[in-house]
Amino acid sequence: METALKDKKPGNLPDVKKVLDYYGLEDLILKYEAFEGVSVKSYPLISGKRIYHLSYGEGGNRLVSVCGLHGNERSSAQFWYKSLNELIEKGMPKDTRYSVVAPANPDGLKYNNRHNSHGMDLNRDWYELSQAETKAIKSVIDEQDCRTIVFDHHECMDDPLYFLEDPGSVRMSRIRDSFFKELYKELEKHSLPIGDFFYPYTNRHTGEAARSGQLINYTAPKKMFSLIVENMGQCMGEELLDKRMQAHASVDLAGLRTLSRLKTRKRSL
Ligand SMILES: [Zn+2]
Repeated sequence: METALKDKKPGNLPDVKKVLDYYGLEDLILKYEAFEGVSVKSYPLISGKRIYHLSYGEGGNRLVSVCGLHGNERSSAQFWYKSLNELIEKGMPKDTRYSVVAPANPDGLKYNNRHNSHGMDLNRDWYELSQAETKAIKSVIDEQDCRTIVFDHHECMDDPLYFLEDPGSVRMSRIRDSFFKELYKELEKHSLPIGDFFYPYTNRHTGEAARSGQLINYTAPKKMFSLIVENMGQCMGEELLDKRMQAHASVDLAGLRTLSRLKTRKRSL
């Protein structure tokens, strides 16, 4: 049974034309169980809904993409299928692994709410780690068998796109520069002007991201290159859904290409 299910070919990759609710997203995720090389795990919540972890690729450099910590930022929870489809179709960049956590806030997604079912903002819980959702996502990030960078996908208006704990670090700054070069190339390929989708200060150094228990406040001190991906798509409406999702997906693809070029000798960045 397992083998028979695992021989789906890229020609059958799923496509999405609308904003999905929690159950629609769950259906989409479970379709990927049938594709060779994709592993799908899940973390159940008390409400019965689940956070899923899809993993693809075997490399030692891993991008963990956290999708939709805020349940009302809809395209940030479902875009990942675009990047995953491209990777299945064209292959992974050398020595990389793509780890998708979606939906990061299942109850928030169900009720189109920023918060989880306990009224908690999950992107302010990364000092206390008091919620089942943050604990589950932490366990994915903490896996020790690879080098990890973390992208945290949102839809908003006015936040920066990346965060370095130590902006003075030459190595981190190089990774950032190389990432943005890839991102511009990738967005150009899809005719997506970066300013249409990301805040104009995207490529500036920013040491001022609030230390308020955001996901990046957990990952950046661990020397993981960390991005807050604030896609302005929330204000754009459903007719631009495909472009909004492609902009998110392009960020992840650029991250994986950057990772594939890192020297692999050292364990930490
Ligand atoms: Zn958000």
